[in-house]
Formats: sequence, structure tokens, C-alpha cells
Amino acid sequence: MQLEDYLKAGRIAAEVREMVRGRDWTGRTAYELCEEVETEIRRRGALCAFPVNASINEVAAHYTAEPGDQTVIGESDLVKVDLGAHVNGHIADTAVTVCYDPVYDGLVQAAEEALAAAMSIARPGTKAREIGRAIETSVKGRGFKPIVNLSGHSLDRYTIHAGKTIPNVWSIGGFSLSEGSAYACEPFVTTGKGGGFVRNGKTRNIFAIRTRKRTKDAEADRMLDVIWERYNMLPFARRWLLDQWDEGEAGRLLDILVSKKAVQAYPVLLEAEGERVAQAEHTFIPAGDGATVTTRA
Ligand code: MN
Ligand code: MN
Repeated sequence: MQLEDYLKAGRIAAEVREMVRGRDWTGRTAYELCEEVETEIRRRGALCAFPVNASINEVAAHYTAEPGDQTVIGESDLVKVDLGAHVNGHIADTAVTVCYDPVYDGLVQAAEEALAAAMSIARPGTKAREIGRAIETSVKGRGFKPIVNLSGHSLDRYTIHAGKTIPNVWSIGGFSLSEGSAYACEPFVTTGKGGGFVRNGKTRNIFAIRTRKRTKDAEADRMLDVIWERYNMLPFARRWLLDQWDEGEAGRLLDILVSKKAVQAYPVLLEAEGERVAQAEHTFIPAGDGATVTTRA
């Protein structure tokens, strides 16, 4: 049943997120972090809705480890660990920022507080822009800036960004939350010196199918079939294909699929002024006079 699946995915995602929060990741590689978190999601009986993101410092989002990624998490790094679990395509999307340098506690807390403020007003009929206002007011009240061009989103079966946007600032227009629909809310916060928006970086290591059109390369077509069979339209990483192809071949075939526009490659998103970014995220379903936060700890 749909709600049961959402709740199960949410419970698993929350458990894994709290495991991430409670551990010391300094000295570990991004590769170890992503692989261990993904293993925990599967071990608990869900599938990964997307590759675990381990976006460090000014990288706001969309970095996942490459095969054998040697990026080491340092003592002053701010790591946004964004993870997704799904049960029969019903997704829980949640994130935590880990940092062991007290200098950045305020930034991390600002993201958590903004998320709590947003969740406290979420109910059927709440306007998405009112959620944006709550986030913006909370973040600015602490002297920080929300990232204006990153936002929460509606969720649908096997679809992470299902078309509706939950902004991190007040904005004109928008929609009202529907009873029983699933949404993710995800404030991103940067310092007062930050630009308060993100731009695309060069690195692209998260992918998803765009269309299942053929490429005239038999092996690339076979890869597309494997991706579809395993991940549907959900995002995936190069790491996830290495049981079938070696690293070089996986890269070559993926390049073909991207150049033929069968697969899209998502760029990492960088804070415009290179300032550090913190994030917090929950998945929630408006119900009654409030909302069921499926990823609540
Ligand atoms: Mn997320
Ligand atoms: Mn999200």
C-alpha cells in the first residue's frame, strides 16, 4: 500500500540519516561514506532512490563518489549527506549536514531550524510560498542567507522531482499542499558573504535516463536496458554499473548514452561566491491539521 511504503521508506531513511549524524567521518573517503550509507539503506530493506550525495563545503549538492574516489573528509569540512530510500518506488528523501568544527555549528543549526519552522506550518492547503517565507525568515534571522535557486519538490512514484517546487524564500505564485501527497522540503543555507544562489560546476557524476531511445551502439543499448531494469527513471552513479562493466568501459558507454541524450548527467551545484553551504531535508505528507514527516527521527 502506498502510505505504508512511504512510511517504511521514511523510517529506513531516517535511521540511516541518524547513523550518519552520529558517526565521525573525518579521515574517511567520500567513496567509503557513499558506499556504506547505500549498503545500510539496502540492508534495512529499501532500495536507494538515488546515489548518496556527499557534497563538501561550497559544493551545495549533486556530488556522489566516483569509483575509488579518494576525496578525504577533513576535520573542518562541512559535508551534506543527502540520501534517498524507496519501497516500490515510494521515496523518502532526507539530508543531514555533518561537521566537526564548532565554527560551523551555527550554519548547520540554521538549516535544521529553518526545516523545523517549515514543518511546523505544513498542512493540507498551506501555500508553498508560505513555507518559503518561514524558511527565509528563520535563516535571515540568524544572519545567514537561504540558497534561492535550490528548492524542495513534490515526489511521485519513481520520480524525485515531480514538478512542484517548494521554495526556500517567499515568492509569487506557486501551489498549495495537497492532503496525502508526498513532498520534500530542503533548506540550503550559506553565510552572509555567500551569493545565496548556486551555479553549475564542471563535475557530473549523477545520471538518469531521459528516454529509452536506441543509440546504434549495441553495448550502450544494453547498458540502457540494465539501467532501466534496475533504476527506472531514478538517478544512478557510475559506481553502480561496475558489476557489469569495468570502470573505463562503463565511462565510455555512459558518455555515448549522454551524447545521444538517452541519459542526462547532472552537474554539481556550487555556491556562487564559494561560501560554505549547509542543508537539512525531510519528506512529509500533509494530513489532517498537520503533516506526517515520514523521515522524522
Ligand atoms: Mn535530498
Ligand atoms: Mn530533495
